[in-house]
Amino acid sequence: MNPRTTSYEFMGPPGAFLVTLLTPAITYALYFECSEQAGGCPPVSFSAIPELITAALSSPKWWQSWASVEWWASLWDTQAFLMYLAWYIFCVIAWAIIPGDIVEGTPLRTGGTKKYKINAFPTLLLALGIVCGNIGLHGPESFTFLYERWIGFVTASVVMAVVQALYVYAASFLPGKLLALGGNSGNPIYDFFIGRELNPSIGSFDIKSFNELRPGLILWLFVDISMVCEQAVRRGGFANVTDSMWLVLAFQAWYVIDGLYNEPAIFTTMDITTDGFGFMLAIGDLTWVPFTYSLQARYLAFHPVELGYAWTAGILLLNILGYYIFRESNGEKNEFRSGRNPKNLKYFTTESGSKLITSGWWGLSRHPNYMGDLLMALAWSLPTKFDTPITYFYVSYFVVLLIHRQIRDDEKCEKKYGKDWDKYKKMVPYRIVPYLY
Ligand code: NDP
Repeated sequence: MNPRTTSYEFMGPPGAFLVTLLTPAITYALYFECSEQAGGCPPVSFSAIPELITAALSSPKWWQSWASVEWWASLWDTQAFLMYLAWYIFCVIAWAIIPGDIVEGTPLRTGGTKKYKINAFPTLLLALGIVCGNIGLHGPESFTFLYERWIGFVTASVVMAVVQALYVYAASFLPGKLLALGGNSGNPIYDFFIGRELNPSIGSFDIKSFNELRPGLILWLFVDISMVCEQAVRRGGFANVTDSMWLVLAFQAWYVIDGLYNEPAIFTTMDITTDGFGFMLAIGDLTWVPFTYSLQARYLAFHPVELGYAWTAGILLLNILGYYIFRESNGEKNEFRSGRNPKNLKYFTTESGSKLITSGWWGLSRHPNYMGDLLMALAWSLPTKFDTPITYFYVSYFVVLLIHRQIRDDEKCEKKYGKDWDKYKKMVPYRIVPYLY
């Protein structure tokens, strides 16, 4: 039931170790290199690059302060940690007490299925109601603490991710656990990172799906709201908040709300069906998503940008197009995998018994959903215009992430479907963007 993992991803244990260190480090670096405290963000100018390098090498920058205990202590903020903990506990209590339908996940290799409680969307509504009520009563000043205590909140989320990853790694050695096919290499560094147990749970509480949708994703929206509040305080009220800031908030709020509203759709994604829960998903869900995806909003809080009607309309259209492709393609696959085919999509039945769609969005490329996601990512960076390349970090990173993910998924499908996957690749030759890649 739990075969040894014989091939590595992420270039094996050294790669896993490097990503384990780099993920929190990059989250901090994005703040230390691009924030009001850092004196702004690096400009877009090739001629300025040598100057920046010389300045970085000669000035006592944050990465040169590593030897000092004070610097490490400055990352810690007890109040932020307690607030973060309260937020996490709120999400757990909301999961436990808010009623929700019980749905079954895709079949496991044990032959059974896992059951999930669907109440992420009401959790969001409850939390959003409390936040908006608070801002309505006490003004935008009451919700700028996420901007002010940024580093403290990042550290709190990193601590939470490390603790959870250690716990699930240790618990995965208890008898009777179903391990992820890719997480049982026997190398502790690698297995800790990639995730050893497929679905670590405490009773009916599924740790992986909970983290995937609630504490990090909802927090991302609240971070954005906090950035809007920060700008409102500086510019004398919500009426003076810039169009660029509203666009970023609207796009990302829509993405988060949509993800939570369509909660059952995550049960057919690779994270849930294939990956174990380890440090990679823990830090991704809890730190990376809320604190790096909100970079554009954080930038706009201290560097307001006015777009005007033409820019606003163009970026809006790009986002709508991306969202349409993302939602339609994910919807088609989700319906199909749940045994329905309302659009009468063409498909072929593989030797494994599983069917692959060959028309509609899934006939255009093997990952049309990634294409939609990438268009949206670009639309989320464009509102910051072009004063710094740092606000394009999200879309650049996302290109790398999704290409890597597509390669991983292709390998997974190759193993699962064998010759049939080659047949499918001939029918649908493009990987993400038709006629391009
Ligand atoms: P997909 O939703 O593309 O799922 C891939 C799986 O779908 C395959 O392993 C295969 O599983 C099945 N599949 C592939 N081709 C077909 C087909 N033709 N017909 C039917 N089933 C098929 O991948 P992800 O889980 O990576 O992504 C889900 C969404 O999440 C995407 O929109 C992605 O952009 C988004 N995402 C967002 C991230 C973020 O940070 N914002 C990070 C990662 C993903 P099987 O056949 O075994 O069922």
